[in-house]
Amino acid sequence: MPTFDLHCTTCGLDFEIFQQRILRDEDRVCIDCGAPNAEVVISGFQTTRPSRAPRTPPAAPPLPRAPYGPGNPH
Ligand SMILES: [Zn+2]
Repeated sequence: MPTFDLHCTTCGLDFEIFQQRILRDEDRVCIDCGAPNAEVVISGFQTTRPSRAPRTPPAAPPLPRAPYGPGNPH
């Protein structure tokens, strides 16, 4: 059963709902204050996690500089 963790931006309540399908706007209603602007914090389905930021490869280490390279007077 997929669960969705929601965070109400109006009253700050964190709560969970169970939903078999993709959450719609009408599902994101705070159970406490009824504000319809609760944000999804974590999805129970790993496959439905929003890929907000593109994956960036780890930064490559700087190349070691040759002590006596071309153009370097010796
Ligand atoms: Zn609320």
